[in-house]
Amino acid sequence: MKDRKPQPGGDVGELGDISPELFREQLRWLADWIADYRENIGQRRISPNDEPGAIIARLDAAAPERAASLDEIFAEVERVIVPGVAHWAHPQFMSYFGCTTTSPGILAEMITGALNVNAMTWRTSPAATELETLVLDWLRQWLGLPNEFSGVVYDTASISTMHALATAREQAAPNTRKLGLSGRNLPAFRIYTSNQAHSSVEKGAIAIGIGEDNVQRVPIDAGFRLDVSALRKMIASDLGKNFKPLAVVATVGTTSTASVDPIPEIVQVCQEHKMWLHIDGAYGAGLALLPECKWVTAGWSEADSIVINPHKMLFVPLDFSALYLRDIGRLRRLFALMPEYLHLRDAVGAEINYMDYGVQLGRRFRALKAWVVWRAFGREGLAARIRHHLRLAKLLADWVRDDERFELSAPVVMGVVCFRFKADDDDKKIDMINSKIVEHINASGRAYLTQTKLHGRTVMRIGLGNILTTEQHLRNVWGLIQLTAGEITGRADWPQSASR
Ligand code: PLP
Repeated sequence: MKDRKPQPGGDVGELGDISPELFREQLRWLADWIADYRENIGQRRISPNDEPGAIIARLDAAAPERAASLDEIFAEVERVIVPGVAHWAHPQFMSYFGCTTTSPGILAEMITGALNVNAMTWRTSPAATELETLVLDWLRQWLGLPNEFSGVVYDTASISTMHALATAREQAAPNTRKLGLSGRNLPAFRIYTSNQAHSSVEKGAIAIGIGEDNVQRVPIDAGFRLDVSALRKMIASDLGKNFKPLAVVATVGTTSTASVDPIPEIVQVCQEHKMWLHIDGAYGAGLALLPECKWVTAGWSEADSIVINPHKMLFVPLDFSALYLRDIGRLRRLFALMPEYLHLRDAVGAEINYMDYGVQLGRRFRALKAWVVWRAFGREGLAARIRHHLRLAKLLADWVRDDERFELSAPVVMGVVCFRFKADDDDKKIDMINSKIVEHINASGRAYLTQTKLHGRTVMRIGLGNILTTEQHLRNVWGLIQLTAGEITGRADWPQSASR
């Protein structure tokens, strides 16, 4: 909290920005605030227990007519906003894929905010464009992709996958860019992906006019990987019905269990049927930075496109998604448009204009944070931290195996552990116990997990990827899970309340 009294009249004069002195003062305060937040984050409750609408109800609903002082505004940030967020950077927040906040990343975001450049063309910010090219090439090398692959940075994997599928569609139905899909005598296209793949595949299909129903979900094997023989059968059946197989989206690190589809076998199927192969490595492709995990990259060089989100495993703050294409010219030919007002009269011809590689025109300077974070840790430092997360995941798996009340629900491949409380009881009730454990723990504010369904059964899921998470934090969370399971199932009224 600041000592200074709020300035009721606001901090701005009649015109212009706030004064440099005040800005400096606020920055100093903010520097301490952020450092304190980061240092003491483990003492916060992770997530509020508010009902929807509770936070907005604490804020003034009227649009601000008059200026408020920054002290007033920041006091409200501390009082209402900060307690109202889920603290993803908390070391016992173990939902999703962990959190990639790092101090260098925060510093880089502050510089990005100060510069606030638009990286739509090379000319609008040469360094933003060239840094994007540079970090994309670093990452390409770390991923072991051949140098014919080039990339572009978007916000999210959903957007990356949509652009990859749009490029696949343009290849299968040339001139769709100009003519669209409707009114043409085109076959219905099919996209195949496992039943564990992310819903961004359907969203991409919706956006590019392929249609959600034309995304065919392929069954999986015992390791939650796409079953290639089932894929072959589905393609054969579709061909018999005059569908046109367009693409396979294979996943490296599925959302629920981090399983890895058998890419080399999928490559063969794609080559036989002249289908586009897009790899969704949003989370799992980061494993390629570890020499001992190079197995994960098998078949990647044969793919047409691959997406990785460094904001999922590689410590770049949200958001940063890199899409690589073997022939990125296809993507540019699909989306490049030059309206007169953007005409680059002083173009020299060698520059990259990243606005040509997708739907969006204005683009944030995302490359800076990747450049800062990756230099600050180096590949070795990133790999050491990923290794630490993999070790924690294996450790948790051992603890689960050692407690006979629990069982692992999927192989542990990366920093994700799926497990389940088991009991000699009916499936529905055990599902409910697992849900309740997660709900109770999340409501306690002391840890945060997710639940998912595997083979139709509810399981608990822990994602490890937070740079602040230590073995002790994991022990705390596991202890809490054991205790909560005991409390819930030990309650005298459990059978009745469970089936309610
Ligand atoms: N692919 C996988 C495997 C994911 O787990 C996710 C999200 O968690 C996505 C894609 C979508 O990511 P984004 O939020 O960047 O669109």
